[in-house]
Amino acid sequence: MASISETIPVSKHFRLQKVAEGVFAAISYPGTGSLGNAAIVDLGDETLVVDSLLTLQAAQDLKDAAEHLTGRPVSYVFNTHWHGDHTCGNQVFAPDARIISTGKTREVMATAVEQRLSRHRAEPELLYRAIDEYEEKMKQEKNEKIKQEMQWEIASDREYMKMLPNLVNTLPNLTFDQQLTIHGSRRTVELITYGGGHTESDAFLYLPEDKAAIMGDLVLSDHHPVMSHGNPQQWLQILDKVEALNPEIIVPGHGNVCSRNSIHQVRSYIHHIFALAADILRNDLNIDDIPVPESYQAWYFTSDFKSNLSMVRERLSQQKD
Ligand SMILES: [Zn+2]
Repeated sequence: MASISETIPVSKHFRLQKVAEGVFAAISYPGTGSLGNAAIVDLGDETLVVDSLLTLQAAQDLKDAAEHLTGRPVSYVFNTHWHGDHTCGNQVFAPDARIISTGKTREVMATAVEQRLSRHRAEPELLYRAIDEYEEKMKQEKNEKIKQEMQWEIASDREYMKMLPNLVNTLPNLTFDQQLTIHGSRRTVELITYGGGHTESDAFLYLPEDKAAIMGDLVLSDHHPVMSHGNPQQWLQILDKVEALNPEIIVPGHGNVCSRNSIHQVRSYIHHIFALAADILRNDLNIDDIPVPESYQAWYFTSDFKSNLSMVRERLSQQKD
């Protein structure tokens, strides 16, 4: 297994961490315009970037880092899913690089994401007001960890608003529905989807020779998995299939580079949310009264705990009817 200790800071948006020879994780600094993680993969004759970060400035740093580390322009950008922190930077790489995603992710970006962006562009003052209101709420927050998370969120939102006038929704121009293999001169990489768990469609990059997987938001480390746009039951099945590939090194969508164990953590988290939501339904409890369980108290994305519970409670109550 390659050393994962080499860390090369190059950007205010992320730090770079070598996960194998020619494979670098870009680990987001919270509260900056990156928001999520990305990765740079040297294929030998070509360069592939996984996910393009939230803002154009962060994406430009990622592009510069990729060119610096591999000595050539970026040929491919692979969007693991449609969320803005994985796709908004696409335009920085296009048209020189091909932008790749699943067909479903492209479809969501061409419809729902496009409509969402039009709304944001038409009435930015609504977003500014929402950020200001959230900032007021943040100032009242007594819990220091939650307050810090809220500050990061606000800072990222403001970075997003700053670049919004220049943002062009840049759609993938190469799509696949199950698997796409790129045979580089140095390594072969597999772009794989097993369907949608975190969103309507989630894909990841598997590097069989390096026993590494760059997972997008299907695997997070020390962050609450974000379940409100997805299908948690299917997510569990996807994780079983990912585990069967036996990756040893995982680059998560948020948080630090981790091991296969993080797959178990996400799986048991989802099971735990189902158990809590069933209990809430059975005993008619109020979600606001449910504390974050001890084992997740150090995790980030705390606000997603409640939205995860309410999403699963909704699903369970529909199944009952
Ligand atoms: Zn996401």
